[in-house]
Amino acid sequence: MLYFVFLGRQGSGKGTQSALIAQKYGCVHVSTGDMLRSAVAARSELGLQAEALMLSGKLVSDDITIGIVAERLQEEDVINSPGVLLDGFPRNLKQAKALETILSVHDKRITAALDLEVPVETVTERLLQRGRSDDTERIIDQRLAEYETQTLPLIDWYRQEGLLFTINGSGTVEEVFDRIVQMIESTLSKSLSWAEV
Ligand code: AMP
Repeated sequence: MLYFVFLGRQGSGKGTQSALIAQKYGCVHVSTGDMLRSAVAARSELGLQAEALMLSGKLVSDDITIGIVAERLQEEDVINSPGVLLDGFPRNLKQAKALETILSVHDKRITAALDLEVPVETVTERLLQRGRSDDTERIIDQRLAEYETQTLPLIDWYRQEGLLFTINGSGTVEEVFDRIVQMIESTLSKSLSWAEV
């Protein structure tokens, strides 16, 4: 079972790319942002707790996000899949360490962390065009600030662990997708056991 973490600023395309990669390789795409947005839409207890923070561009509490990921990773479709693509988690060092602990209980570890590198100006433009409810200029600034202070340190952490792969995230969806596929197939081909679907 392979576990890929997608890092990269909001608007770097990690949601789009991780969904495409999951589809290509028959893996499960686990997006904490999507799970939290579903909880908000369903007006669940968890959604109500998360909503205000999401709309202010702040991170939701670690207890909530670690809890939903731990639960998701236990589900049957995930357990039976050849790989998992984590999109938007971990977002800080505490979450990264929690993920390591969750996986180590099952004798597993992260296979690779992929950092989609896109300049701030480009992601801001992309986010403004996307127009999600948290894609206003003020909330984007706050979310990008959270990325710099909380998530950026993960890049060094995964680099030190020898798990970091940096990918140029500029260009079209197809161009970036091809780079990721190339990276997966050339660099990780030895550990890849998934058949292409
Ligand atoms: P995303 O779709 O990944 O950009 O996430 C949208 C929002 O959900 C973020 O701005 C956070 O408020 C929240 N969120 C998603 N993933 C996490 C996480 N791992 N930790 C904390 N908050 C998160």
